[in-house]
Amino acid sequence: MGPESARKLAEINIRTPRDLAATYPRDYKDWRRPASVGDVVRRALGRAQDPQAPESAEEILIGRVVRTSEFRGRIPIVSAELEDESGTIKATWFGRRGFAGKLAPGDRVFVHGRAQLKRTGKSTGVELNVLHHRILREDEAYVGAVMPVYPAGKELSSRAIAGIIERNLDVLGSFLHDSLPPAVAAKHGYGSLLEAWREVHKPHSPESAAAARERLVFEEFFGLALAAAARRAQRLAGGGAPQLRAAPGSLEAFEAALPFRLTGAQQRVVAQIWADMGRSSPMNRLLQGDVGSGKTLVAAAAVLLAARCGVQSALMAPTEILAAQHAARLAPLLLPLGIRVDALYGSMGTRERERVRGRFESGECDLAIGTHALIVEDVAFRELGLTIIDEQHRFGVAQRAKLRSKSRAPHTLHMTATPIPRTLAQTKYADLDLSIIDELPPGRTPIETFVLRGSRKAMAYEFVRKNVARKRQAYVVAPAIDESEAELTSALAELEMLRNEIFPDLNVALLHGRLPSREKEAVMGRFQRGEIEVLLATTVVEVGVDVPNASVMVILDAHRYGLAQLHQLRGRVGRGVARSYCILIAPDDRSHVERLQILADTTDGFKIAEEDMRLRGTGEFAGTAQAGEIDLLGDVVQDFALYMQAKADADALLDADPDLSLAEHRAARALLEGAADARAVFLSS
Ligand code: ADP
Ligand code: MG
Repeated sequence: MGPESARKLAEINIRTPRDLAATYPRDYKDWRRPASVGDVVRRALGRAQDPQAPESAEEILIGRVVRTSEFRGRIPIVSAELEDESGTIKATWFGRRGFAGKLAPGDRVFVHGRAQLKRTGKSTGVELNVLHHRILREDEAYVGAVMPVYPAGKELSSRAIAGIIERNLDVLGSFLHDSLPPAVAAKHGYGSLLEAWREVHKPHSPESAAAARERLVFEEFFGLALAAAARRAQRLAGGGAPQLRAAPGSLEAFEAALPFRLTGAQQRVVAQIWADMGRSSPMNRLLQGDVGSGKTLVAAAAVLLAARCGVQSALMAPTEILAAQHAARLAPLLLPLGIRVDALYGSMGTRERERVRGRFESGECDLAIGTHALIVEDVAFRELGLTIIDEQHRFGVAQRAKLRSKSRAPHTLHMTATPIPRTLAQTKYADLDLSIIDELPPGRTPIETFVLRGSRKAMAYEFVRKNVARKRQAYVVAPAIDESEAELTSALAELEMLRNEIFPDLNVALLHGRLPSREKEAVMGRFQRGEIEVLLATTVVEVGVDVPNASVMVILDAHRYGLAQLHQLRGRVGRGVARSYCILIAPDDRSHVERLQILADTTDGFKIAEEDMRLRGTGEFAGTAQAGEIDLLGDVVQDFALYMQAKADADALLDADPDLSLAEHRAARALLEGAADARAVFLSS
C-alpha cells in the first residue's frame, strides 16, 4: 500500500503488518442472498406498524431499472424505480451528481441500503436509501459474500481496509505466528492461526467466521492462562519466604483477646492464610469479603502470626482516612498482644516521618500501617515478612510490587470489599489463591434501600431529619465522582442549601477528596464523635470508614454510579445496632430506577457484582490501573467456558513440561517470554 494509506491506518492504530493482519472486524454483513423486492417492501411496512421496531433496516436486493430521475438541488438526489417479479421499489442515491445518466432502464443492478416507509407530501412508499451498488452484466450470476466490517477511521472506510487486507492477505499471513501447541489445537479440531485469520477476513459463512473467532479467542485465553499458571508455578517453586508456623492453640488465644467470636467464615480464611504463611513459597492470596464482613480482623490474625514468628508486617491502604482508621482500630487490639503499630502518611512532617521510618528499620515496629507513603524508596524494614494490601484494586500492579520489593519474598494478602464475580476472579486473578468471607458477623439488621425520584428529594431530607432527632447521624453523598471543579461547585451549592435552607439548625459539614488531609481527618473526627449530624461527602467515604452511629445514607444522582460502587457506599451505614437506611435519588427514568431497584432487592454483594457486570461489562472491575491496557478479543466472562478449557489445557501443558522445553512447545514458551509484560498487566499481581 502507499504511504498515504499507511498514514491513515496509523491513525486508527494499525502500524505494523501484524496489526493489520490481526484487525478484527467489528461486524459482518451477509451479502450472499439478496432479498426479493416484495420481501423488502413487506418488511418495511411491518416495521412502520410496530412502534418498537426501528424505522429503517439494511437490505440487499437485485432489481431491474424501470426509470430514473434526478433532482438537481444543492445535494443532488437520483432516484430509480427498480423491479423484480415480486414488486417495485424506489431506490435513491444522495449526492451523486449526473449518476442518473449512468443508469439506463433495463439495467440489472445490485443495491445495498436502508429501506424505510417514507411519507413525503401526498405519496407514501417504501424507499431504499442506497449505500452500495453494482451494475450487473446481463448474463452475470450474482455471487455475494459474507463481508467483514472493520472499525473504520475518519479517513478510511471499512471497505478500503477490507481492500487492503484482501490484496495483501498472503503476505500478511507470514506475520502471524501460532502459539498453540499442535496437540492442543488438534484436540479441539482447530486449524492454523493463519487459516483462522483468513476465515475472519474472508469468511465462507457467518458460522465459519464464528468458529474462526473461537479459535483466536482460545489461543488468547491459552496465553493468559499459561502466563498465570507459569507465574503461580514459579512462585510456588521459588521459596524464599519465611515459614511462619502458628503454635497450637494460637487461634483460640487470638479469639480470647477479642470482644466477640470469629464468624465461621473468618475462622476458615484465617486457617487458609496461616497455612499459606507456614510454607516457604510466598503466599499470594486474595481475600474477598463484603463490606462489614470483618476483613480487618482477619488481617490482624495474619499480623499476629508474623509478629509471633519475629517478622514485620506492612498494611497499605489507598487513602489516609482509611489507613488512619486501620491504625486506630488495630493498635488497641494488637498492643495488648505485644504488637507495636506505627503509621506513616504522606502528610507527615519530616521529623515525625524520620522517627517512624527509623522504627520500621530497627524492627521496633511490628506492624507498619500507611498509604502510598510506605512504598517510597527510602522506607525500609528490618525484616518484612507479610504485606497486606487493603482495597487492592485501588492500587496499580507496580505499586503492589513495590511494597513487596521491600523484602525478598514476603507473604502477600490482597483484600477487597468489592465482591468480584466468580468468573472474573478465576480469570483475572488466576495467579492468586482465593479466600472468601461469605458471612456477616451476627446481629446486623440488613440495610433498607429505597429508590426515590429526584423530585422527591425533600422527602429524603425529611427522613434524615427524623433520624437525627433520634440521635442518629446521616451521610449525604454528593455527585462528585472525579471531583472536577464543576462537580465540587455543585457539591458546595448542595452544602449551602443544606446549611441555609434544609438543616439550618443542624451541624452540616462537607468532606471531599481535595481537602488537605489534616482537614479531612478533622471533619471525620468530628463526625465520629457525633459533633456533625449530617455529613455531605463525595465518594471519599466509599472505602472503610466506620461510624456505627450513622444510620441513614442519601445518595444523590445515584444513577451515575455502578451498582457495585453503590453497594460499597451504602456499606458505610448499617454498622451499628440501629436499623439503617439507604435512599438512592435518581432522575425519573424507568431504566435508572430498574437498575437501582436491584440494590433495593438484595444486599448480597456477589449477586450485585454479577448483575453489575452483566449490565456494565467487566471494565468496572478491572481496576483503574489495569483497565484497558490489554485489548482482548475474547470476553473472559461471556466466553468463560472457553477460558476454562484453555486453562485446563495450559495447566496440563505445564504439568507435563514445566519448562516448556519440548520442541513442540517452543512457540508457547516464546509466547510467555515475549508477551509476558502485556499479559502481566491483565493479571492482578
Ligand atoms: P470490612 O473491613 O470487611 O468491611 P471490618 O473489619 O471493618 O469489615 O468489620 C466491620 C465491623 O464488624 C467492625 O466494627 C468489626 O469490629 C466488626 N466485626 C468483625 N468481626 C466480627 C465478629 N466476628 N463478630 C462481631 N463483630 C465483628
Ligand atoms: Mg475494611
